[in-house]
Amino acid sequence: MRSLRLIPELLTALGIVTSAVSCTGQSASVDLRAPLPPHHLPDGHFRNIDTSVAPIRDTMEVDSLVPTHRTEVYRLPVVRGNEELWEDSTASSATWIGHATYYIKLQNFGILADPIFSDRASPVQFLFGPKRETPPGRDLDSLPRVDLVLISHDHYDHLDRGSIKDIHKKWPKCIFAVPLKVAEIIEDWGVSRSQIVELDWWEEATVQKVHLTFVPAHHTSRRGAFSSSRNSTLWGGWILEFDEKKLWFAGDIAMGDGSYYKAIAQKFAPIDVAFLPIGSYKPSRYTRVHVSPRQAAQLHLLVGSKKSLAMHWGTFSMVYERLEDPPKDLARARKELNIPDSSFLVPQFGEIVPLFR
Ligand SMILES: [Zn+2]
Repeated sequence: MRSLRLIPELLTALGIVTSAVSCTGQSASVDLRAPLPPHHLPDGHFRNIDTSVAPIRDTMEVDSLVPTHRTEVYRLPVVRGNEELWEDSTASSATWIGHATYYIKLQNFGILADPIFSDRASPVQFLFGPKRETPPGRDLDSLPRVDLVLISHDHYDHLDRGSIKDIHKKWPKCIFAVPLKVAEIIEDWGVSRSQIVELDWWEEATVQKVHLTFVPAHHTSRRGAFSSSRNSTLWGGWILEFDEKKLWFAGDIAMGDGSYYKAIAQKFAPIDVAFLPIGSYKPSRYTRVHVSPRQAAQLHLLVGSKKSLAMHWGTFSMVYERLEDPPKDLARARKELNIPDSSFLVPQFGEIVPLFR
């Protein structure tokens, strides 16, 4: 058993129950004899195990910070309506805030996935880094409640210091579910360890009425200036099980050889609601870390998703596709793959979409 990352008494008090998979040990010591899972490297870093695709070039990381040769971008519309779904404690809904940020309300339980409300996806807000082209679809202050935050990985456009601090301040009892080694980052920002659930791939935890499984994703991580920070924290997606419904927040993903997602499908299909990224795929070298809209449509079919909601487009200009390309390419893929428009939606900024209807 690796180090004990959760404190059972505190978590019980907060309504968090971790499964035998994630937390059976009672000792804080590390058992050095236990074999490492294949995605763990001996030096503490992580790797993808699904494919022999060559490592992502450093230039791609530079690409994402220095906006050169980008196509012109513009603001997309922000919409209002359906607020009664937020007020109804029996209704479930998902609201696209922008990029990979979704506000998911499961009856009277509020979840924010990969929250970023800041102007830039950057360590230095006033200086550099991809700038937000469209404002957040909803302000943090307008959300009815946030009980749980899900983080997919540590890239700046998914793990934002200002947003985490604001959420923690406004909802001090909120629980943060994060990948391995991300807990220490948000602890530095003032979140108590007792409010953090940190999981490895396939580990599980229950937060009040929501059962979580952290699942693999073909991606990377990096936050620091030095290359040693590359893949020093884990990345992945979240399966949420709630009231006999299953939701998959995929996070930031490439297809890899597809085996991670086949395993997810095997364990969880059919999925009731999938949150799937559709942006940052041009030129094609970016599909080493992101899925194209067509691949997102293939994943929709693979996991038997009854309703998929698009994300990870239209917010930050990080690569070279035009802002309007992802929904257009998705529409083409839906047609080619015989997916009804109504089962893979592209919500607008701020749009509240009813779930499970
Ligand atoms: Zn990423």
